[in-house]
Amino acid sequence: MEIIHVSAECYPVAKAGGLGDVVGALPKYQNELGHIAKVVMPMYKTKFLMNNAWDVVHKGRTNIGDYWFDYTIIKEQTNKLGFDLYLVDINGLLDREKVYGYDDDTERFTAFQVSVVDWISVWVHKPDVIHVHDHHTGLIPFIIKHCYKYQHLHSIPTVLTIHNAQYQGTMGWDKSYLLPPWDSWKWGLLDWKGAINPLASGIKCAWKVTTVSKSYLEEMRQSSNGLEDLLEYERGKCSGILNGIDVDVWDPATDSYFEDHFTVKTAAEGKAKSKKKLCDTFDLDVNKPLIVFIGRLVGEKGADILPAAISDSFYYIGRKMNFLILGSGFPEVEAQLNSLQRLAQKDYSVYIGYNEALSHLMYAGADFLLMPSRVEPCGLNQMYAMRYGTVPMVRRTGGLRDTVIDYGEKNGYGIVYNWAAVGDITQGIWRAVDLYNDSERMAEIRERMMLLDFSWQSSVLQYISLYEEMRHKEPVTESLPE
Ligand code: ADP
Repeated sequence: MEIIHVSAECYPVAKAGGLGDVVGALPKYQNELGHIAKVVMPMYKTKFLMNNAWDVVHKGRTNIGDYWFDYTIIKEQTNKLGFDLYLVDINGLLDREKVYGYDDDTERFTAFQVSVVDWISVWVHKPDVIHVHDHHTGLIPFIIKHCYKYQHLHSIPTVLTIHNAQYQGTMGWDKSYLLPPWDSWKWGLLDWKGAINPLASGIKCAWKVTTVSKSYLEEMRQSSNGLEDLLEYERGKCSGILNGIDVDVWDPATDSYFEDHFTVKTAAEGKAKSKKKLCDTFDLDVNKPLIVFIGRLVGEKGADILPAAISDSFYYIGRKMNFLILGSGFPEVEAQLNSLQRLAQKDYSVYIGYNEALSHLMYAGADFLLMPSRVEPCGLNQMYAMRYGTVPMVRRTGGLRDTVIDYGEKNGYGIVYNWAAVGDITQGIWRAVDLYNDSERMAEIRERMMLLDFSWQSSVLQYISLYEEMRHKEPVTESLPE
């Protein structure tokens, strides 16, 4: 099958979070099974763009409303990522340094989606599946079914994967002119609660919808930033497929971001060397357990409760552990985490920013990884941590619930708590300190975690059978909830 993934992120080209990791890995494993999976994404001004060679494969001209623009599709020459990678270059709109965060993101991602469809519309053959990811590409199923110019594509099966339902790309109806002329009887397929909602439109128009864990799919019917009723209504076409991790990139025996490699057998010594590096760099006490947090400093990740949980732990448990935080996000949270630094007694440090290399060293050198997420569609960090022998301390939610078993249970290996609340996290930290002092149990748990299989193997097969179900079928006619 020929599968076209359309996404705003793809590691190592451009990554802001888990979406990038998934789109950088899934197609590679689909190709290994003999399929032809390709990735199409915007051409940002990234290092990867500068450091690689490209062929121009298509030049076209299209418009969003009355803004006409030329677009160019370029393809990476060597297939070094394990799949064909295409970038869409739109002068002035996409060629910027950051992936998101501009005032005209609506225009940027609409222009991207229209260009992708415009390009595919001139192909002599049709791909077997177009697989779109999150709201930045959520309008594509609507465009190919209901925009007059592209209706000859309407029979191409589409899959939408929701990596994060918190962000939906909502825009006012005054922006409807950005779309290529469309059948206005179908306005309900764009609308959700009085606005154009690309994620909701994707849920309505895609043939199949997946989320990145089974538990997240369940939870979204209860809480998904306003989409609950829609997901309940469309439950028949939704399924949860757990993300895997790229075991080539995330392998403690070969990881290119740090030197002291280790395997299950040499984990104790290998991890100790990375821990020492971290402790020397960040002025921490190497003899205490090292608890780290890596991620976006936003409410979803429970980052706002970290400062209180850390101070309470020092106060109630004592200065028996180190904390090291890596992340960026809400300025207030950044400021609070920075200000804790003043009270540090060689047991706390923070790095505000995005640093891929440091994150790898932290997975390798830490003893515990804290994830007090309020919402966690799948979560990759806990899987990376486990592969690197670092005990995850997670809140029982979404993909964390599906991947971590508390060490108190049979064959368990993590620390699990129920609420993203200071008390629960502090109790988890107390349990971590206790576990750390039992070195035999710690070693046993480490080995158990490192032997777990979080590869893409079984999830890739689930995606393939989902695509197979749609092959040679007529497009589904959408209906709307009352
Ligand atoms: P989300 O996509 O919701 O941010 P995931 O757990 O799915 O969360 O993926 C997060 C990915 O982003 C992981 O690879 C993690 O290591 C990485 N990451 C997040 N913040 C940072 C940071 N500040 N520096 C380096 N890597 C980060």
